[in-house]
Amino acid sequence: MVFQDEAAFRFVGGRVSVDLTATRGLRWRDRGVERVPAPADLARWFVEAGLTASPVPVSAATHRSALELREALYRLMRGRVLGEPLDRRAIDVVNGWAAKAPPAVRLTADGSEKRLVKPTAGELLALVAHDGVDLLGGPHANRLRECSRDTCTLLYLDASRAGSRRWCSMEVCGSRDKMVRYRRRDAE
Ligand SMILES: [Zn+2]
Repeated sequence: MVFQDEAAFRFVGGRVSVDLTATRGLRWRDRGVERVPAPADLARWFVEAGLTASPVPVSAATHRSALELREALYRLMRGRVLGEPLDRRAIDVVNGWAAKAPPAVRLTADGSEKRLVKPTAGELLALVAHDGVDLLGGPHANRLRECSRDTCTLLYLDASRAGSRRWCSMEVCGSRDKMVRYRRRDAE
């Protein structure tokens, strides 16, 4: 079993828009765990998500907007998982950000890698919103899943051929689930 710091960022979503929703964790709890409580935490997330090599300035207003975009993406993605009608207000929030320009991109000198050109925090949120629109409005939306471990609740994109992946991460939730079942069997 892998020990996980509750506040640590999780990157198991398979898409940057899904990973943003994981910056609030343990959603089954009353208020969950806020993993980006301050603008500096969001700046750190942008770096750990691989969007930018060096931290970009994040204002308090952009931080608030990021949390709003995150919750809108979460509502829409979870709505898809549950097969529920999608929240109109959440669609408006995501569309608002998707209407903005994402960062400029360039190829590295050897032509092998894509880099974002000096992105701003706002441009990075636009990029995340574009990814969310692409995912929710594209052919992979039916591969969105919610982790089967009831104390996890992270969303992820199931890229397995059979579409039968049950956990956000085999190492963390898959092994815990197995252990719980093993203990239960032992107790019976
Ligand atoms: Zn999980």
